[in-house]
Amino acid sequence: MADWQREVREQFPIITAHPDLAYLDSGATSQKPRAVLEAVQSYLTTSNANAGRGTYPWANRTTELVERTRRRVKEFLGDPDPQRSAVHFTSGTTEGLRIIARDWLTSYLGDGDEILVPFADHRANLDPWLEAQRLLAGRGIDVRVRALPYQAESGDYDHRALEQVVGPRTRFVAATHVHHVYGADMNVHRIRAAVGPDVPICLDAAQSVGHLPVTVDDSALDVDFMVFSGHKALALPGTGAVWSRNARGPVFEPGGWRGTPNTVGIASLEAALDWLDAVGPDRIARWTAALTTRLTDGLLHFAPYEILGCQSSLAAGSSLPAAQRRHGIVTFRHRDIPSDDLGFILFSHGFMVRADSLCQAGADEKKDGSVRVSLHVYNTVDEIDRLLTVLTSLN
Ligand code: PMP
Repeated sequence: MADWQREVREQFPIITAHPDLAYLDSGATSQKPRAVLEAVQSYLTTSNANAGRGTYPWANRTTELVERTRRRVKEFLGDPDPQRSAVHFTSGTTEGLRIIARDWLTSYLGDGDEILVPFADHRANLDPWLEAQRLLAGRGIDVRVRALPYQAESGDYDHRALEQVVGPRTRFVAATHVHHVYGADMNVHRIRAAVGPDVPICLDAAQSVGHLPVTVDDSALDVDFMVFSGHKALALPGTGAVWSRNARGPVFEPGGWRGTPNTVGIASLEAALDWLDAVGPDRIARWTAALTTRLTDGLLHFAPYEILGCQSSLAAGSSLPAAQRRHGIVTFRHRDIPSDDLGFILFSHGFMVRADSLCQAGADEKKDGSVRVSLHVYNTVDEIDRLLTVLTSLN
């Protein structure tokens, strides 16, 4: 094990307290380093108050914390124009996508407009757009929802077919950065080329922010919304954010009274982003990609297992360019063992994995069950090797 990784792993109290367990479900939520737990403790014992409402020091400090964390999110995302953009805190990606759909998209679309959305990604990135379509229909505005085309072989969006479905009425695209089942980078930078400079793009970055370097710098990802879950990026449960560029379409402003913000969650997010920057998203991504390749190489030629998603990426293994590699997520099925049984078997050996239909839009709970191993910086080569020993003992 690399020395830096051992040091990093030791900063996660829940991990070191359970040496006989392996947490392999970071795609669902991440574990928290001590720095985050300490920031929470410190906030609650020195400054806890409501934000934007007080005239005394604890309240002022809390208001400053919220504003500072907004700036920190922009900085973390490499925002080239922080004066113009905005950050709104949410409970996670689902809430973020929903408020964009409800409070922004419905005021932007007109009769006959078309939107492109993913039908085989996380349902959090489909349901809100369909709800917006229904809301608009109730107001007599007819919007056409089209599927972002997929290419099964490469495992990402079909960028050639995309050019066929983009038309003069295409007004919005929702996409996913890293697929939560296949771990594939969906090459969203190519979507901008297909839709041209004027169409807003909303990116579900739930599986990328906190896992790999992500920047909203126009030359890298020229998107208008970046939505992520703080709790998958080492912050507390119930945290997330919407970053909006406010350059195409109306300025994004969540509607209605939003009430008290999750100030403890925001304190945890600030500490998590500091921690991630100190360790280095690039180093984290290289580590989880290496573990991923070790796992897929170990399973690939073992007949009972089918690894889901792009098959050519498997054969090429670690020689693939970074963008083509699986980012810390490997989902598979056993030919004979139902996935929920496999989940129980793995837990009996101390492995915590996700075993169901993974909230994939259109997936059938019974038919489409699978087992997902999702990794973060605290996972080790030894965990992967022990997992492979158990998996390959199940013929
Ligand atoms: N999108 C993707 C790609 C996800 O993986 C998840 C979480 N599984 C979500 C959205 C939903 O995130 P949250 O539960 O934080 O709302």
